[in-house]
Amino acid sequence: MALLFDTHAHYDDEAFDADRDALLAAMPGSGVGLILDPGCDLESSRRAVELAEKYPHVYAAVGWHPENCAPYTEASLDVLRQWAQSPKVVAIGEIGLDYYWEQNPPREWQQKVLRDQLALARELDLPVIIHDRDAHADSLAIVQEFPTARGVFHCFSGSVEMARELLKRGWYLGFDGPVTYKNARKTVEVALDCPLERMLLETDSPYMAPVPLRGTRNDSRNVRHIAEKIAALRDLDTDALLALTAENGRRLFGIE
Ligand SMILES: [Zn+2]
Repeated sequence: MALLFDTHAHYDDEAFDADRDALLAAMPGSGVGLILDPGCDLESSRRAVELAEKYPHVYAAVGWHPENCAPYTEASLDVLRQWAQSPKVVAIGEIGLDYYWEQNPPREWQQKVLRDQLALARELDLPVIIHDRDAHADSLAIVQEFPTARGVFHCFSGSVEMARELLKRGWYLGFDGPVTYKNARKTVEVALDCPLERMLLETDSPYMAPVPLRGTRNDSRNVRHIAEKIAALRDLDTDALLALTAENGRRLFGIE
């Protein structure tokens, strides 16, 4: 069985409070070779770094998620910069824009926080993990202000045309549970078009469990369901796709 790499899972989330340690310790025995836990604010970034330092198969990213960025200060970048010195911190994330929720911080503030963190990633020469929900045009425009930025558009929900723009600039695309959903037409089109060497498979645990587990608490083992769906679309062997996408993740995040 191929060891998979879940490049996006929030084990710092309270949904895992009851069994986090047992679950994470059991992952390598269940075919999960690597996990990347992106932070969403200072507290969750701190917890992600702690988990990464505790488990050899867990890595962390640190950052302010657009939904949680209201209390962001420029001084907090120093904290992120310090944590990024850990060899287990391999990216700045989860950062980006989220225009879906009306109660989110104002768009202009989200854009400032995103730009500041893209500049931090450039300074530290780290890849970024981008969250783009209903903000495709602005996300694309802002990452293009940073021509050396590289990373992944996590749970990519844009069009094939936008995907090609990003791929041309060296970005990776993350595929999550939604590619298995009935209404996944656009995501399926992108999954058919994306070069295999730019694909990452992710759960976004505890959210977005794939079919047939939709609605339950998600965890990294379920990357296999996402792989099965894309392997069927692309007429590939599931284990070969798991191995190839794990290799993609190691390349992007610089993991041996
Ligand atoms: Zn996430």
